[in-house]
Amino acid sequence: MNAADPPIKSSPTPSFERVLPRPELPQGPFLVVGLARSGQAAAQMLVSRGTEVFGVDSGTPHDSETLGDFGIEAHLASDGLDLVDRVQTVIKSPGVPEHAPVIVAAKQAGKTILGELELGWRLIDNPVIAVTGTNGKTTTTTLLGAIYEAADLPYELAGNIGTPLCALAAGIDPDATVICEVSSFQLDDADAFTPECGVLLNVTEDHMDRYESFASYRDSKLSMFARQGPGQFAISGPAIDFDLPGGGFKARVLSEGFENNGAIAMRGRHNIDNALTAAHAALLMGVDPAAVESALATFAGVEHRMEFVGTVDGVEYINDSKATNVDAALAALASFDGDVHVILGGSVKNQRFDGLAEALSRASAGVYAYGDAAPVIARDVEGLAAPFQSFATMDEAFSAAASNATSGQTVLLSPACASFDLYDNYERRGEAFKAHVAALPR
Ligand code: ADP
Repeated sequence: MNAADPPIKSSPTPSFERVLPRPELPQGPFLVVGLARSGQAAAQMLVSRGTEVFGVDSGTPHDSETLGDFGIEAHLASDGLDLVDRVQTVIKSPGVPEHAPVIVAAKQAGKTILGELELGWRLIDNPVIAVTGTNGKTTTTTLLGAIYEAADLPYELAGNIGTPLCALAAGIDPDATVICEVSSFQLDDADAFTPECGVLLNVTEDHMDRYESFASYRDSKLSMFARQGPGQFAISGPAIDFDLPGGGFKARVLSEGFENNGAIAMRGRHNIDNALTAAHAALLMGVDPAAVESALATFAGVEHRMEFVGTVDGVEYINDSKATNVDAALAALASFDGDVHVILGGSVKNQRFDGLAEALSRASAGVYAYGDAAPVIARDVEGLAAPFQSFATMDEAFSAAASNATSGQTVLLSPACASFDLYDNYERRGEAFKAHVAALPR
């Protein structure tokens, strides 16, 4: 090679060459239903392509009033029923339920209905790694980002965790791999969506308010793999014991007996599963094993998910406020052996807590339930081996847990419930916990 030759550009994902051809966009005019972040991105992308676009939202989401500036006729605080006849295709945001009157009317009128994920995917020629599952999506998606970062490969975090796919379509680096956190609601509104690499971490009962049965929720998650063919990868986590449909390359991660000997920086046994699953996906996509190894050894996790807050007087404090369901709390408890003071509670959405009793008896030195859920938890886990106390607030539960914990033990917030009785969201709850740790006398 002489000095005038251009540098040889190696493919960023050497063993991965095939990106599925995407179907064309459906016919306009379009009605975008739900005008929060992803709906706004879809509407703006469509209008930039010169199509007529209407938007509707039953409320007035942040920034939605600015859509008019882009030439989008946005109807706020409206049911949008009068718009159905004026469009060919409806784009549905993931938060909009199937039974919303405008969706029902559009179905009856025979309109095409698609989700934002599907729409964005059709416009992006880049390889997509889609991460779904009941728990662990954000952690695994972020870790995959850290792996690509360590490998110095171009990537974009997208979907629930980052930029809506529709917003990426405009100017994405053609070499970038899209790492996309995908919810089952988004999969329900997909039609042709097929990731080059699909990752299904686990499926346990959650969102039962939106699904008829557990089977329909699980089928929704599995639908991501249904259209895969040779050249695509379907990866499932160790907790999934059923066959994956579709014709892609299937791999199930097995982590039984894997000891965390320091190769994985994240805390918690379930994070070993997340780490191995992310590593599997990255290696299949052709990422350098050395980069995978170095990211696993340094990535400490995501805030509010088994987050190590600090050690005070020999007691470790861990914030797992994102554990809003029983399975996430069970995953946290699996990492302890009789030495943890567990704070749990919050608002209740018809779940039961019987499933926690055995793990609490085995793992905990004390259980501190608070909020609306406290009496329900008390009933469901009656007869625990560990001492159980109820409190009105998380603050009171924290004080009790912190004063009972002795050196070498852990205080863990892993609520198994949503936060809405006392906090705006799980982030505020986790911040309150961390503020209490910071205020402890040292
Ligand atoms: P998601 O984005 O799917 O909600 P997160 O990564 O935000 O997942 O984690 C949510 C909660 O689930 C946290 O409490 C976390 O500790 C727990 N969790 C993470 N990974 C797993 C897993 N593989 N199995 C069970 N629980 C998990």
